[in-house]
Amino acid sequence: MIVIGAGVEQPIDPAEDELGRDRIGYGPTMSPMALYDATHGTWHLGERAQRERFALITHDGRGVLAVAIDRVEPATTGRQSSGRSVIHGEILTTGHPMHDAYVGAPSPIPPQRNPIGYFNAPEEQTVCACGCDEPIPAGKHFASGHDQTALHERVRQLGGVVDFIAWFDRTHGYWPDINVIYEPVSLKDGGPTGAPARARHRLGCSHFFLDKDGRIINRPRLATAKEMTSLRPCKSCQDASAKAATRK
Ligand SMILES: [Zn+2]
Ligand SMILES: [Zn+2]
Repeated sequence: MIVIGAGVEQPIDPAEDELGRDRIGYGPTMSPMALYDATHGTWHLGERAQRERFALITHDGRGVLAVAIDRVEPATTGRQSSGRSVIHGEILTTGHPMHDAYVGAPSPIPPQRNPIGYFNAPEEQTVCACGCDEPIPAGKHFASGHDQTALHERVRQLGGVVDFIAWFDRTHGYWPDINVIYEPVSLKDGGPTGAPARARHRLGCSHFFLDKDGRIINRPRLATAKEMTSLRPCKSCQDASAKAATRK
């Protein structure tokens, strides 16, 4: 992550500022939005900044604002570029691991003269899911190409693609059209019970409930990718799906 040491709040001439601001730096009464505005630029940033996903604004050796970076762009005054950049991103709040670990805590880097520093935060890293233990950015599952390798090694273990598909269908069934969830509702008032759904259904099956006026009280929605793997396909929907397949 980029660690930016902001100075104390100071007024500036909006005509001179590339972002047209009237103040920059850190003020103790600033809202997070005001602080973002006063500190997200403009900075001399190296190439590394383009690869970073988070920025931490510090003041006087403490983290004061954490940002998830969308993009880093050159700041421009009129036609001429100053070589300085602006960080655009989303202000992180309580509950985000980067906010919780670094805002209000001592700066993760020692004091330095350059306002721009970098820190490899453990919260930014995870390891590749293939088992190789290679560190990768948080939010990804695999190092580049490792997902393909891991998958094909498993296919090869069963013999080949034909054997793999046969095994998959035998073990899990292949029911891509059983992909709808009826949110569990209370039969008393039709309100959601908050309980997770227990099965997936095929759109058009009759496994929902009607109120006394004949309206469906549990509206269908598409199953998420997670639900496609974690929820069993409804038995009679399987029969309906198999029947539909032979009719084709
Ligand atoms: Zn790997
Ligand atoms: Zn069903």
